[in-house]
Amino acid sequence: MTPFRTAEIIAVGSELLTPFRTDSNSLFLTAGLNDLGIDVTQKTVVGDRVDDLVTAIADAAFRADVVLITGGLGPTADDLTREAAATAFGLPLEEDPALVDALRARFRRRSNAPMPENNRQQARVIQGAVVLPNPNGSAPGQWLERGEHVVVLMPGPPREMQPMFESEVRPRLAARSDGARLSRRVIKIAGQPESLVDEIAAPIYTPWMSAPLPVFTTILSKPGQVELHLSATGVDQAAVNVALDAGVSRLVDAIGDSVFTTTGEALENVVGARLKACGATIALAESCTGGLVAARLTEVPGSSEYVRGGVVAYSNDVKVGQLGVDAALLAAHGAVSEPVAQAMAEGVRQRLGADVGVAVTGIAGPGGGSADKPVGTVWFAVSGAGAHAETLKRVVPGSRALIRAWSVIVALDLVRRALR
Ligand code: ATP
Repeated sequence: MTPFRTAEIIAVGSELLTPFRTDSNSLFLTAGLNDLGIDVTQKTVVGDRVDDLVTAIADAAFRADVVLITGGLGPTADDLTREAAATAFGLPLEEDPALVDALRARFRRRSNAPMPENNRQQARVIQGAVVLPNPNGSAPGQWLERGEHVVVLMPGPPREMQPMFESEVRPRLAARSDGARLSRRVIKIAGQPESLVDEIAAPIYTPWMSAPLPVFTTILSKPGQVELHLSATGVDQAAVNVALDAGVSRLVDAIGDSVFTTTGEALENVVGARLKACGATIALAESCTGGLVAARLTEVPGSSEYVRGGVVAYSNDVKVGQLGVDAALLAAHGAVSEPVAQAMAEGVRQRLGADVGVAVTGIAGPGGGSADKPVGTVWFAVSGAGAHAETLKRVVPGSRALIRAWSVIVALDLVRRALR
């Protein structure tokens, strides 16, 4: 038998088509399938309508080697997955007497009451399917092989579906695997726009897709940060690693020192590790970020070793009174300026007794902008022993939330660069 290579996931439930619930099952299942060297080629979310479900299941089973379906296995009239899967393959549903007994026993154990008759639905099995036990709920799963394809029905609640996948589905899929595994590398980049990163990276990674051992690259962005995800599937793990590592090093060479990790850490962890390596402590003076930089740095366990503290210096009075910024400097240049950022960084460093001081001062908007200092103008400064004195001005586009989120990354990245 040929090994399974492609999979589709179908999440069933009208609630997944409302703004109130997201399909998280498919993320869990994608990770599990990738571990087995199986690529997810399509995902579908279908409401509780039998015709839609029949079409979705038949189409997916036509395209993919493996179809994993979650949800719609309950006892109520809108739980239609069993019926739809049976219809899609033209197979009858047969009541399994052992399952009816097991359901009755489960009911007696849990509620001391007789089982409502509609629960018998859950004992209906597609002809030829293997029943997958569900120790965490009433809905059993089903494993149905159709020629070279397999279709798996699993319950919707993650706490039932996940253990069923691990104990019943993964071993069956692994038995059909040739040992291929999907491996990934993640390159994280700070402070660069996605379009610029892709302009540099795309000409490098595009040809890899048609290499003898194909490497696929996707680009993801969040405020202030871009990630390049490289993946490759193969039986020969050493060859996969060589291809991925070569890809990573070519991209890192091309993108340069805005790459802050190729091993998955968050920026605050990278900065924390550098501070620790230098034996340096840090203090923050934050205006427009209102303490967000300090919050990020202190998300790292053990950060008390290097974070001294911070001052949210939002008003000019606090910049003067708490950080010792010269009032004349504020009057001459305004709060959002290079000399004030420098004075804030130096002030917080001295007053909190830290080795490194960092300041952020900017206009997060939506009001307060001017022609020479538009909304989104942010000045950053790092001062201190061991660190080169550095300042940086950025004009960040977008909403207040976006400007603040960007500013946190830029500030942390400035510290990382200063501590090189
Ligand atoms: P039950 O026997 O509990 O009715 P079921 O198989 O019929 O099981 P659903 O009724 O479809 O499952 O879903 C039950 C709950 O499980 C949903 O309300 C939701 O909270 C969760 N759930 C279902 N599908 C998903 C999904 N794809 N991602 C995350 N959660 C889900």
